[in-house]
This record gives sequence, C-alpha cells and structure tokens, in this order.
Amino acid sequence: MIPSAFEYHAPTSVAEAISLLGQHGDEAKILAGGHSLLPAMKLGLAAPGVLIDITKIAELRGVVINGNVNIGSLTTWAAIAQHEGLRRVLPVLGEAVSQIGDLQVRNRGTLGGALAHADPAADAPALTLALDAAIRVHGPKGERTIAAVDFFTDMLSTALEPDELLTAIIFRPLGAGEGAAYVKFPHPATRYAIVGVAAYIKLNGTHVSACRIGVTGAGAKAERQNDVEQAMLGGDGGDEALATASLRAGEGMDILGDIHASEDYRRAMVKVYTKRALAAAVARARG
Ligand SMILES: Cc1cc2nc3c(=O)[nH]c(=O)nc-3n(C[C@H](O)[C@H](O)[C@H](O)COP(=O)(O)OP(=O)(O)OC[C@H]3O[C@@H](n4cnc5c(N)ncnc54)[C@H](O)[C@@H]3O)c2cc1C
Repeated sequence: MIPSAFEYHAPTSVAEAISLLGQHGDEAKILAGGHSLLPAMKLGLAAPGVLIDITKIAELRGVVINGNVNIGSLTTWAAIAQHEGLRRVLPVLGEAVSQIGDLQVRNRGTLGGALAHADPAADAPALTLALDAAIRVHGPKGERTIAAVDFFTDMLSTALEPDELLTAIIFRPLGAGEGAAYVKFPHPATRYAIVGVAAYIKLNGTHVSACRIGVTGAGAKAERQNDVEQAMLGGDGGDEALATASLRAGEGMDILGDIHASEDYRRAMVKVYTKRALAAAVARARG
C-alpha cells in the first residue's frame, strides 16, 4: 500500500530536530531506521503528516565508552554487534542484537528506534531492563534521563513525550563477579521474540547479591520479574536455586496469546527461558 502524503525534513542537529518537533507536535514522527515505522505507514497503521528523518544527525550515532557505555540512539544493531570495545565491557549486547531479524534489519534498525517503538516482541527493551540502562531524551524543555524500568508504559507506548527525541542509551560496563545473558525463542521468520529473557547477576563471593530480569515477547510490554529476582537473592545460583526461582517467572504478568503461541505456552516458556538466562548469567558471573 502507498503511504499517505507527508512533509519531509532532514535536520542535521539535535537542536534542529527538536525545533521541528516543537513546531509540528503530534503531527510529526521521527524516522530512524524506518524498519518499524515504514511498514506501519505502508499498512495504513500510521499516517504522520510530517516525517523528521534523523539519519543525518551524526551526533546521534556511535558508541562511547568512558566509565559508562553511551550508545547514540541512531546506532544500528550491526554497529553494536561489531563494536570491539563493547565486546570487552558488555558482550551480552552484541550477542543479543546479532539475533535480531536479518542482515538488512540489523544494518538499518537502531537501538533508539526500537526502544521508542516499544514493540512487545522487541529484544532490546528486555536488555535495558536487566542491565538497568538509562535512556536520555531531549525536548524543548531540555534534557532528562529516564530509567529503563520507568520507560516502557504499555504496548507500543513509552514515557517519551511527543516532542521529545531519544538521544542516547547509557549502560554500565560489567565488572568482576557480574554476568549477563540474553536468550530467546525467536519467531522462525522475523526473529522477533516469542519469548525473550535477559538476566543480570552479581555475586558476592559465592552468593547472589543482585539480580535483574527483563522479559519480552510475553506481555504487552517488556517487564522486570521482581519475584524471581527476590528469590535469587542470597542463594548460591545453583541448579536447585535456579529451578525454584524461575518457577515464579511470569507470575502477576498478563501474558498474551496469539497465532504464534498460546497464552499457556508462552507462560511455560517464560519460566524455561528465565531459567536458561539465569544459568548463563550465573556462569558468566562466576568467570
Ligand atoms: C523483517 C523484520 C524483522 C525484525 N526482527 C526483529 C527482531 O528479531 N527483534 C527486534 O527487536 N526487532 C526486530 N525488528 C524491528 C527492527 O529492529 C526495527 O528496526 C526497530 O524495532 C525500530 O528501529 P528503527 O530504527 O527502524 O525505527 P523506526 O522504524 O524509524 O521508528 C520506529 C518508531 O520509533 C520512533 N523513533 C525512532 N527513533 C526515535 C528517536 N531517536 N527518538 C524518538 N522517537 C524515535 C519513530 O517515530 C517510530 O514511531 C524487525 C523488523 C523487520 C522489518
């Protein structure tokens, strides 16, 4: 289907993009990699009157590691997967994003675009939750940082205001005694997560002193698993502890059923994949 007509702007700075967002308000949509927005426009699910193409804003692209890991919102999956420094300080990111879609999707799709879009089956939201990422946004009122846990509000909905631009995602590098992993049951065609689980573990000697889990694909939005996290704390991260804790995965969550997987099946898979993600994160934390 041919999308409806729209005005097109291609700013070259964040300031210019924000000024355009301020002028056009709800009528405008940011265009990043276009791999979620353009299909929605072609299907008639989105019909923005104004497109603000941010791909010419160089300051939004790239990875800077200086104590923290700062990833520009326009950084593609391929650039994240190939980044040498990231492989050293936060290998889970490259491993996870290498499982997204296919080569074309990874060459065009961006981390910022995926988070702003908040597809319930997208991989990156689960990673930002488990890694406790901070999401930096700029708007006419200035700059603010939103914790990942406060960012995803509902299906395809986030804490971003319509006149705000997501500019960067900030992660903390992992150190000794910390480990993270992402495992997913991918849709066989698109590779979107039917269920995806990211886990972070910190060990204090032999015991778990911190645990965060982000689940995607199962509900309307990516969610932390507080009950599982609590059950892991103080334990030794061994087989028995993992089996007991992961049984609590999905509790209190509204799990979705659709043509790809029933609600019951997804609920079972949330437990299975939580256990796998935790086991991998514990193994990494042990070094
Ligand atoms: C065939 C196919 C397979 C895919 N498989 C997977 C998969 O396995 N796993 C997965 O996670 N994803 C998958 N995707 C989605 C892909 O990763 C998308 O590229 C991504 O979700 C959106 O990023 P984008 O840069 O293309 O954003 P766009 O499509 O350009 O934008 C998406 C939305 O975010 C808004 N937006 C974009 N950037 C910003 C910003 N900086 N600030 C504010 N708002 C912004 C746009 O206005 C729009 O509403 C797949 C897509 C396709 C087409």
